[in-house]
Parts: sequence; structure tokens; C-alpha cells
Amino acid sequence: MKVAFLGLGDIGAPMASHIARDPFDLVVWNRTASKAEDFVREHKARVAGTPAEAVKDAQVVITCLPSSVEVEAVLHGENGMLESLRRGAVLIDCTSGDPPTSRSIAAELGGRGVEFIDAPVSGGTTAARAGTLTVMWGGEESVFERVRPVMEAFGKKIVHAGPVGSGDALKAVNNALLAVHILSAAEGLAVLVKAGVDPKVALEVINASSGRSNTSENLIPQRVLTRAFPRTFRLALLEKDIGIAAVLAEDLDVRTPLISLTAERFHKAREMLGEKADHVEAVKMVEQENGVEIK
Ligand code: NDP
Repeated sequence: MKVAFLGLGDIGAPMASHIARDPFDLVVWNRTASKAEDFVREHKARVAGTPAEAVKDAQVVITCLPSSVEVEAVLHGENGMLESLRRGAVLIDCTSGDPPTSRSIAAELGGRGVEFIDAPVSGGTTAARAGTLTVMWGGEESVFERVRPVMEAFGKKIVHAGPVGSGDALKAVNNALLAVHILSAAEGLAVLVKAGVDPKVALEVINASSGRSNTSENLIPQRVLTRAFPRTFRLALLEKDIGIAAVLAEDLDVRTPLISLTAERFHKAREMLGEKADHVEAVKMVEQENGVEIK
């Protein structure tokens, strides 16, 4: 099966590594060409010079870009995918995108005999390396069946969320919850540090109690208490996801004051910490505001 993968970022590169083997025939493209060249030195794949060249023979195309804005750019921009996509091809967009843009891309491609599935992933770079990502996809069952082997190469739990755009919606809400958990855990622990409680002791109790979350069980112990703050998922991308959730809520007339406040707080964190900061570094904002360190 001929596959093209566009976007070898933090999560795209480990995802693509699972397709760089039989029965797949992989072509990769990345905006910064050196990353694609590094990739093919280590994996069974070829480099394309442009998005158009990458997709011209592909039966399946995967995009994994920061947001739907970049997916649109790679589709419509100079040497973009649009004119080269083969009739009968399927575009799987693994970007955590936004539902309206995914629906409009699906409609445009549908008119050219090209199918579209939005298929954001979760599990982070660790699950991407292990090939055990959770994939939440939106689209038609019959289209999914044609591309199932590709999805199964990097995904373990693969869930149909509904029509096109549903995967994006589900991903945005999941990540809004992640953002709420990061800020609420950081605020709670800042209070406890000031109250003289050791954060390790606090987490021992919280993680055996009802206040626990993936943030308290994994992210804070592994990344905050250790002060390691590894960069695996950019804070800027999480801010984008909360924004998608906030717009979705507004479009559907659902009141979500907590999500709106979290969006504001992550906007501030992004301004303070910059484009390269990891999402868990939002804890540093709470620490600075309160003159404490959670360690
Ligand atoms: P990165 O920022 O690490 O990589 C982004 C990729 O997009 C790079 O290949 C980059 O190219 C490319 N890119 C950026 N702007 C453009 C553009 N204008 N035109 C063409 N290519 C562009 O992001 P991630 O890999 O972390 O994330 C990708 C998607 O997956 C995002 O939607 C994110 O929200 C989602 N995601 C990420 C997770 C993670 O743990 N990292 C977990 C789950 C979902 P270049 O190399 O040139 O910069």
C-alpha cells in the first residue's frame, strides 16, 4: 500500500516510523527538509520535495500538522496536495484539527473523488513510539475499512467518534480537560506547599483519593517534582486545542465558563513561556504567581 506522511514533528515522526515497513511503501515530506532526510536515513522510506510530489501516487495520505490552518496551507499552497491527490485516495488527517475546517476539506475533496477522515490521536510521544496511540476518527465506516491497516500500524484503541469533524471535537474536549487538570492540580499543590505539606505526601493521598487524574498520577510526579519538564507536547498546541473546544461550545450554545477561563490562563502561559514550552510547564506560571516551587 502506497502511503504518504506529511509532518514529521514530535508525534508525526514516531507515528510514521510504524508505516516505514512492509506492507507499506512510504514517502515522507516535512517543511524543514533536514528532518525528512534524517528520517529516511533511519527508516525504510523516501523523501519528497513538495507535498504535491509526496501524494501523487499515494493511496493513503496522512497529515500531522499543528492545526487545520497548516493542513489547509499544505492542501492549497504552492506545490500543495490538491492537484496531485489521486481519485480514490484517502486523506487521514491526524492533526488535532477543528471540526468546521475538517468538514470543509472533506466536502472539497469529496468533489474530486478523494475521501477524508479526521483522526486525531492521544497518548503522547511515548504511545506514538510504541505504536499504541488512541485514535478517534470521524468519517464513513466504508472509508475507514480501506485504511484500517495504516491506522492499526500506530493505533491500539481506534474509536469511531461519528461523522467527519467528530474526531476533532472529541480530541479538543479531551485536551481541554487535560488543561483544566494541569491548572487545578498546580493550584491545589501550590496551596498545600504554602500550608507546609510536602507535595510528595500530598500526591500520595490525592492519588489514592478522588482528586486524582493522569496529571496528578503521572505528569506531576514524573515532570514537575523532578523539575525535568521534558518537551513532548507544546503548550502552544494545547492552547490551540482549548480554543477549538471553546469555539465548539460557543457554536453549540453550551455554557462552559471553566473551559473559557482555562483558555485565558493557557493564553497567558503561552505568552509567558513561549512557543517551545511544553504543556506541563504551565505549572511554572502558577508557581511564579504564588512564589512557590512544587518539588
Ligand atoms: P510539532 O510542533 O512537533 O510539529 C509540527 C509539524 O508540522 C512539523 O513537522 C512542522 O514542520 C510542521 N509544520 C508546522 N507549520 C507548518 C506549515 N505552515 N506548513 C507545513 N508544515 C508545517 O507538533 P506535534 O508533532 O507535537 O503535533 C502535531 C499534531 O498532533 C498537533 O495537532 C498536535 O496538537 C497533535 N498531538 C501532539 C501530541 C504530542 O504529544 N506531541 C499528542 C497528541 C496530539 P517543521 O519541522 O518544518 O517545523
